[in-house]
Amino acid sequence: MAALSARVDKAQRIVVKIGSSLLTEGDDGAVREGWLAALADDVAALRAAGKQVMLVSSGAIAVGRRRLGLTRKTLRLEEKQACAAVGQIRLAHAYQHAFDRHRITVSQVLLTLQDSDDRRRYLNARNTIESLLRLGALPLINENDTVATEEIRFGDNDRLAARVAQMAGADLMVLLSDINGFYTADPGIDPNARRLDEIAEITPEIEAMAGGSQSDTGSGGMITKIAAARIAISAGCDMLIGAGAPDNALAGLVNGGSCTWFTAKESPLTARKRWIAGSLQPAGHLVIDDGAGRALSAGNSLLPAGVVSADGRFKRGDLVLVNDRAGRELGRGLSAYAIEDVRQILGHKSNEIEQILGYRGREEVIHRDDLVLVPKRNEDAP
Ligand code: GLU
Repeated sequence: MAALSARVDKAQRIVVKIGSSLLTEGDDGAVREGWLAALADDVAALRAAGKQVMLVSSGAIAVGRRRLGLTRKTLRLEEKQACAAVGQIRLAHAYQHAFDRHRITVSQVLLTLQDSDDRRRYLNARNTIESLLRLGALPLINENDTVATEEIRFGDNDRLAARVAQMAGADLMVLLSDINGFYTADPGIDPNARRLDEIAEITPEIEAMAGGSQSDTGSGGMITKIAAARIAISAGCDMLIGAGAPDNALAGLVNGGSCTWFTAKESPLTARKRWIAGSLQPAGHLVIDDGAGRALSAGNSLLPAGVVSADGRFKRGDLVLVNDRAGRELGRGLSAYAIEDVRQILGHKSNEIEQILGYRGREEVIHRDDLVLVPKRNEDAP
């Protein structure tokens, strides 16, 4: 692969979203094997450059529809779900085949949008993705269409990809589209339409431009892409939209090809901490000893050994306040354990957790990435 553009080179974790219309041929839903093989080459090259990559791929319905011979233009929800059930296996198989050549292990993760709303499911999905990446597997993610309770809308995977980026703390999301970026108007209609190189803020003007019909066949058009960009950048993740149809399109884009960048203003970790500090209601509190207080100020995680007591009604993943013995708030963070479990392990060493609880949870009660400290008071200040 030629040199990565500087912006891509900075990214550690990259989500690539692949739409049905790129992956499948016309109306008959055949997988474009050659294109997929080229995509696998590009992903392998990114991984060789030290990047962690996740794919969010559509195409289950398009592939399954062909297999089931459902050629009618509009399908009922349960028919789409049947198509997805048939198509998802074939889709996963096609990816597996394409990545086998690079000895990359593909893993299938099916999510519903609700999974990213519900805290505990969200945490599980997040931890699974984290483990897959750590173990070197390539997560291949799609919506779990067979259990979808609402109409499956094309374009939902744009949003799903952004949620995945947020969930996994990705710093770049590449949206492979059938158009090489975001235009000021529909380039098919308006000869004055210009592609924008960079969008630093999603203003009402940008929304209005997206409202024009610069559609992306078989998907939700620019409006859903803007919705996805909004989620991504507020999670500290840059997003780019570029043309995905040519072979090796991904390599072209990450090497600086023309596209539109949506730029995040902060890092994923900062965005996450802002969310922890500002958007959640505390469900309880922990009191910690002075040693643990010093460890937190030095940037460490909160271990069970430093916890003195726990109060409230919190479950795993809920927000808790962290107080010192005098009742001063030192910070707040997401507890890796429910209150019953914290009460059992407090005061103990992390290597005793498994024996006490009967399962192997995290070493920390609150991981430092899930913790926001109250800024230090300057005691000498007037
Ligand atoms: N999840 C659907 C599928 O795999 C597609 C949704 C979308 O294209 O956004 O067929």
